[in-house]
Amino acid sequence: MIKALKVRLYPTKEQAVLLEKHFGACRWVWNHFLDVRNRYYAEPRNGKKKGLTAFDTMKMLTMLKKEVTWLNEINSQSLQHSLVELDKAFKSFFKHNTGYPNFRSKKDHQYFIIPSGFRAVGNRLIIPKFQEGIKYRDACVIPSEIKQVIVTKDVERYYASIQYEVNEEFQRSEGIVGIDMGIKAFLTTSDGVQVQPLNVLRKKEKKLRREQRRLSRKKKGSKNRKKQIVRVQKVHQNIRDARTDFNHKVSSAIVKQYGTVVIENLGIQNMQRNHNLAKSITDQGWYQFKQMLSYKMQWRNAELIEIGRFEPSSKLCSRCGNIKHGLKLSDRTYRCEVCDLEMDRDLNASINIRNMGLIKVGKDIPEFTPVESATAAELSKGGLRVATL
Ligand SMILES: [Zn+2]
Repeated sequence: MIKALKVRLYPTKEQAVLLEKHFGACRWVWNHFLDVRNRYYAEPRNGKKKGLTAFDTMKMLTMLKKEVTWLNEINSQSLQHSLVELDKAFKSFFKHNTGYPNFRSKKDHQYFIIPSGFRAVGNRLIIPKFQEGIKYRDACVIPSEIKQVIVTKDVERYYASIQYEVNEEFQRSEGIVGIDMGIKAFLTTSDGVQVQPLNVLRKKEKKLRREQRRLSRKKKGSKNRKKQIVRVQKVHQNIRDARTDFNHKVSSAIVKQYGTVVIENLGIQNMQRNHNLAKSITDQGWYQFKQMLSYKMQWRNAELIEIGRFEPSSKLCSRCGNIKHGLKLSDRTYRCEVCDLEMDRDLNASINIRNMGLIKVGKDIPEFTPVESATAAELSKGGLRVATL
């Protein structure tokens, strides 16, 4: 199994300059050979249109380096890797009808790939052309079986995404659970664990709005506008980091405890059409959480069951099956007029979600599930606000 670890890099000024050159050179090689391949294909040879292969372009790159000497400053494997990627993009265009390869711009995601020649010594990551090593955050233990390193830039920070091989096999957990995702509570499990949303996100959302308002007042093309754009990007980055950390903690705690998880399908299509900021931030958080949950469950060979979003999970009484049409969004407690059930609204919904999922895959509904305090304990240990209902 291949796993990835993302560590923040702290390059010196000189190293940062060289990293920037790597981003630029890999982009330049991509663009140059995209153009070369386009022109080659446009000219028929012996009445036939032929394309170049990755190998052809690699030979051409070796020749080119004699003229374009600044390319020699760059790790040659990373440059070659750009050609491999370009070739993949062409193949995928012809085979799977994905988009035609685009020219890359400075504004696009900045990265370069290092396929070999790396190791970690102390708190330094040694990669080709950086033999003295680039400092990284000490807290991370870099695994030994590294497969590939991708260096990226996000606003003004540098990261190394380290892909490595692990032999460990995770055990599939026993428990069965339904999860209700919400705004008041981030999630509620059918055995009564409620995880509160991250406070810090609310604060940062406000900050983001403020910085965006400031940006709208700056003159187009001005220096101050450019500075303000970086400020806005940094708030976005903070939100992303906090959310990723939060979602990792919550999804890990869930997979440790449960082997079968039922969750509502989140309409991703609808999400992208949403322009409300707070709503879109919440949605992105859910989407990321679900992605993490999904791959972590795959590692353990566990089962993730999705049910439709519009099944009446909140209005249905989880004990007697009565549907309460008059339930308002503001009602935090579900009170059933038929069987007198009284419980937290989200807990009732999560039990329904679990039951609907189990019915969907033809499994029996458990009679009684005690509060699973292990999940709650694990999450509070991670500094999250958790309640048991
Ligand atoms: Zn009832």
